[in-house]
Amino acid sequence: MQSLGELLQSGVVIGDGGYLIELERRGYVDSGSGREKVGTGRGSGQFTPEAAVENPEALRELHREFLCAGSTVLQALTFFGTREKLNRAGYGDETERINCAAVKLAKEVANGKALVAGSVSRTQLIEREGMGALDKARDHIAEQISLLKDAGVDFLVLETFFHLAEMKVALECAARANLPAVATMSFRPLITKCSDDHTPAQCAAVMADLGAVAVGANCEQDPKRMLPLLREMRSATSVPLAAQPAAFRTTNECHSFTRLPAFPDDLETIQISRSEFTEFGKVAKNEGIGYAGGCCGCNAAYIRALARGVEEAARS
Ligand SMILES: [Zn+2]
Repeated sequence: MQSLGELLQSGVVIGDGGYLIELERRGYVDSGSGREKVGTGRGSGQFTPEAAVENPEALRELHREFLCAGSTVLQALTFFGTREKLNRAGYGDETERINCAAVKLAKEVANGKALVAGSVSRTQLIEREGMGALDKARDHIAEQISLLKDAGVDFLVLETFFHLAEMKVALECAARANLPAVATMSFRPLITKCSDDHTPAQCAAVMADLGAVAVGANCEQDPKRMLPLLREMRSATSVPLAAQPAAFRTTNECHSFTRLPAFPDDLETIQISRSEFTEFGKVAKNEGIGYAGGCCGCNAAYIRALARGVEEAARS
């Protein structure tokens, strides 16, 4: 298996889709919508990755589906796997076990046919307590990255960060652990600025300066809505771009699906079709996006459609 660096040199790296939303649909993950308002960014016990230990067969199957569909990277289900977030869901004591089991499962399924990335996201401390909590966030992120490194991930995907300040902390922790990192911010409610007021171009430049091997955006927008912000990032840096959009339609007034009333209980009403991911695959190939995958709402059919788009553009 080639390294991520080699894969980025040789064409478009095909990522995988969204795990938590898909496992929620299949009955294995709690969206939290029965308990409190979801979609504020301050969430407590919502959408956590304990399926890695409680329903390993369901997670194994989803990994297999993405691999069959053409993913060259499988992301271990360690999203929202910091001790901070897991504590809030009642799984803090299982932080080591969940992170370790998730990586082991992904590696087992990948079996040398795909790279395995550890997913690290925001702690939600900044949304709840403000910038004063950055040092606490650093401790939690460093702990998770060290668990992922020990479990043997090939690289990290730092994703769905709302604040550039917390992304910077995560990139510093990745560098200290000596792990390559793909870094993708999430923009909401509009694609023009992240939560601490930096434009996509500014985010891209900072993430590249801190050593990210690819920079970009994930989640919140459908591919068409995300493309303008990716192009803005392109103008600010020469490192490869990474894009893992959601498969949910957003509006001109609100560019993020988690801020729409359909989240999380009426997502079926804003689901986009997989052919939009075929189009996205063509654009990714034609515009030099180095790493393209999907996020929430993307099951294996979307990844297969994306891979087909990349292939079609490569032939034409
Ligand atoms: Zn997502």
